[in-house]
Order: sequence, then C-alpha cells, then structure tokens
Amino acid sequence: MPEIPVVENIMSANDQLADAVRRQLDAAGVLALNLMASPGAGKTSIITRTVEGLKDDFRLGALDGDVATIDVEKIAATGIPVTLINTGGNCHLDANMVHAALPEIDLTALDLLLVENVGNLICPAAFRLGTHYNIVIASVAEGDDKPYKYPAMFRGADVLLLNKIDMLRYEDFDVAYFRHGVEVLNPGLIFFPLSAKTGEGLDAWLDWLRERLTAHRQPDKSDLS
Ligand code: MG
Ligand code: ZN
Repeated sequence: MPEIPVVENIMSANDQLADAVRRQLDAAGVLALNLMASPGAGKTSIITRTVEGLKDDFRLGALDGDVATIDVEKIAATGIPVTLINTGGNCHLDANMVHAALPEIDLTALDLLLVENVGNLICPAAFRLGTHYNIVIASVAEGDDKPYKYPAMFRGADVLLLNKIDMLRYEDFDVAYFRHGVEVLNPGLIFFPLSAKTGEGLDAWLDWLRERLTAHRQPDKSDLS
C-alpha cells in the first residue's frame, strides 16, 4: 500500500509549515482564524460583519483563499488590508500557501488575521494552517444534515457558527437534530447561531472573539511593564 507513506509525508510536511506559520504569528502577537464553510454559507458576510464589529478596537487583516474576487472586494471595502492567496485552482488552503503569503502581510500592524479558506466542507479540515482557531460556518439554507455528511469538518472545529438563522422561519431546519449531530462528533463545541444579514446573535460571537483577542495580547503587555 504505497499510498499511505506518501500521504503521511505530505501531512507531516504540511504540519511543519503550519508550525512555522504559528511561530511567525505568535512572534508578532497576531491571533489567526481559519474560516471554513461550503460556498454560500456566508463566510464573506461574516468576515465583513466581524470587521465592522471589531475594527474600532483591534487591527484586522484578511488572507483570502476563496476564489471569487467579488468577495475579496467586499472585504477590502471594509478598509482592512486583504491579501490574496493564489490557490492555483486548489479546493483547499494548505500551510505552504499561507506560509508563502505571510511575507506580503505586515503582521506587526495586526491583532487579528482572518483567513478565508476555499468554500468546501471536505478537504480544508485535513490541512492545519498554523492558525489558532478553526471556525466552521454552516447555514440554515444548507440544511440540518451537514454534521452527518461532513463529520471531519465538524470534528475539527473549535467554534461553529450557524449563519442565516433569520431563515429558520422558512426552512425545514431542525436545530436540535443539527446540534445533536455536532455534539456526537465534538462535545461541548462552542456554538453561535447568528444572522450576518440581520445582525441577530452577532454580539455573542464578537464578544467571544474580543475575549480571545484581549487574552492573546495580554502577555505582551505584561512583558513590557
Ligand atoms: Mg466568500
Ligand atoms: Zn481540497
């Protein structure tokens, strides 16, 4: 079975680069999120909402591996620096792509780096990027069976955002069934139901992120005092 060692080598090379990315982020005191979702779940809308909510208090930047330039323009319109990752048509980001993009970003000017992964619920889960948190975005429009269909994505998540809850009135989406599927895979997963469109539920997500950002920059402050 020659495939197995090859895959292991690829994954360990990826992990080494992910570690290198993490070291660079930590040296600069930058917290980074890997945002993963299927196309249309609302990654870009959540990024722009997150930027609007935090940009007065924190310095944000985005690294965009999603293919649609229209999305990149929307993020850039919020006024934060956006760097494009050329995925070469790949269906996921890997640590090598992020590592290669880092020299184009002034990390010393950032508190938070939002990495928008390629829209896909399968392989992005398999590649560590060196970011601090895996944020998975599902949406009511996609249906309540996503955890049952894409277990690896939900198992590897640190935070789950359920977007488009304004559509719960119209869609046949069973929140209890969805959450049960998630709990089996990833007990106690941090979960924020929200709507990037209406803003409902957004504050809980932003508060969680504020706490992480404040905790992340605390050690540097105490070192200096
Ligand atoms: Mg997008
Ligand atoms: Zn892929």
